[in-house]
Amino acid sequence: MQSMQASDSMKFQESNGWTVEIEASVIELLQSYKQSGRCQRESCGILFGTIYEKSKTTVINRASGIIPGSKRSRHRCHRPRKKAQELVNMLWEESKGTVNYLGEWHTHPERNPTPSGIDLKNWDSILKWVTTDSERLYFLIVGTDFLQLWVGDRKTKSIQHLELLA
Ligand SMILES: [Zn+2]
Repeated sequence: MQSMQASDSMKFQESNGWTVEIEASVIELLQSYKQSGRCQRESCGILFGTIYEKSKTTVINRASGIIPGSKRSRHRCHRPRKKAQELVNMLWEESKGTVNYLGEWHTHPERNPTPSGIDLKNWDSILKWVTTDSERLYFLIVGTDFLQLWVGDRKTKSIQHLELLA
């Protein structure tokens, strides 16, 4: 179980020896979108970060808010593809190539979130079609009490749930 605490960063272990870290500022932002209200709609956005090859660490250090034009309902959030790509390109240029597109986040109105069939299909198509430097992409779901992270491999298209490092 991966409880959210705004003041701390979260670290996850990948099976290939890499570590993923989500910075505290990102967790704080995502928490502000928690679907705790009864009629609150899903939120979704993009994850950005930096890949450190030497230390085999991926740091998720930025997340977008809801991208204007996203289609949202109680159980769905769909971001517009073109606007999202513009944002990805802008951040990449601004940061001189250090802030990369790393994946997607969205909220669920459940305590401890698991991906729906539609989520898995979306993630699969993102693994197939997105252009980015990272070989692996991250998919994060923010529940009302817990946050869960999955990694997808762009070569094999496999998706794996990640365990929180103690
Ligand atoms: Zn979902």
